[in-house]
Amino acid sequence: MKVTEYFEAAQGRTLISFEILPPLKGGSMKTIFDTLDPLMSFKPPFIDVTYHREEYIYKKQESGFYEKVAIRKRPGTVGICAAIVNRYGVDTVPHLICGGFTKEDTENALIDLNFLNVRNVLALRGDADKFDGRFIPKPGGHHYALDLVKQIKGMNEGIYLDENIDKGEKTDFCIGVAGYPEKHFEAANMNIDLLFLKEKVEAGANYVVTQMFFDNQHFFNYVKACHDLGISIPIVPGLKPLTKKAQLSAIPRNFYINMPDDLVKAVMNAKDDKVVKEIGIEWCIQQSKELKAANVPCIHYYTMGDQDTIMRIANAVY
Ligand code: FAD
Repeated sequence: MKVTEYFEAAQGRTLISFEILPPLKGGSMKTIFDTLDPLMSFKPPFIDVTYHREEYIYKKQESGFYEKVAIRKRPGTVGICAAIVNRYGVDTVPHLICGGFTKEDTENALIDLNFLNVRNVLALRGDADKFDGRFIPKPGGHHYALDLVKQIKGMNEGIYLDENIDKGEKTDFCIGVAGYPEKHFEAANMNIDLLFLKEKVEAGANYVVTQMFFDNQHFFNYVKACHDLGISIPIVPGLKPLTKKAQLSAIPRNFYINMPDDLVKAVMNAKDDKVVKEIGIEWCIQQSKELKAANVPCIHYYTMGDQDTIMRIANAVY
């Protein structure tokens, strides 16, 4: 089923979903199942699986010179989706990114997903390669998530890259996109970021999942601003609990978000990470309860392989 069909069927009940990362290359599906087995007791209707582009490393050659080599540290998104459906019978939402993909690669990935009966994708641009500093598409690839949404929407209408394909099978993907309650870090301001979100919606996006936030007011303001602009598709809050003191700087550095004062003070005063974890779990429970009371369609938890923490939160909220 499509994500939006689950929202409609829930009739105002707040659903729960989880996001997982493929294991590092050389790892096993067991780590995914170890994360998901206990979480399945909450009956998530769908599971998101992230996608990670190749990274570049400098490898020393026999000649002594260094060569720039591409490696994919976390392959396997499509295979993991198939394995999840096979084991649990729940729907999956593979993430698709522009970075490192040509339009042809994207089309072929969508064909694989369609043949696997995957009905949902989260269409993203992806981050810049760390050596580039700014996002550079692969030659023949997309610059923005907007262009990826257009390509997926086109395939839903039977339009393939090869113009000789007449009456190609129409895929039927439900398309999710990313939203940023505290603004995407590259956007000049919130207004322009929202206008670009609106373009993704007008191009065919069916729902939005947000970047994590620790102050629900950011989310409520964001939803209101979207509604004021005429964006009326479901907006799903993404949450991640803080569990280590070091994350006070790591999370803002990596995700460009702010931490509320009360949370920062409590974490700064904590004597060790055991205490920080308790503070983070309690904070996330309170955030979740408030969001649920506000009738959000779903709460999307970034699990980061820490199922025990997510279990405690979900147990207190659902
Ligand atoms: P876009 O919507 O393309 O926006 C990127 C920037 O360009 C924004 O600043 C926007 O304002 C601007 N912009 C948009 N359209 C235009 C335009 N027409 N002209 C000029 N500027 C424009 N990354 C991964 O690599 N793998 C994942 O699995 C993954 N999962 C994610 C899941 C969620 C829920 C979220 C919130 C993020 C995820 N990311 C993932 C990170 C994401 O790829 C980055 O945040 C990326 O920098 C932006 O992606 P986007 O889809 O929001 O891009």
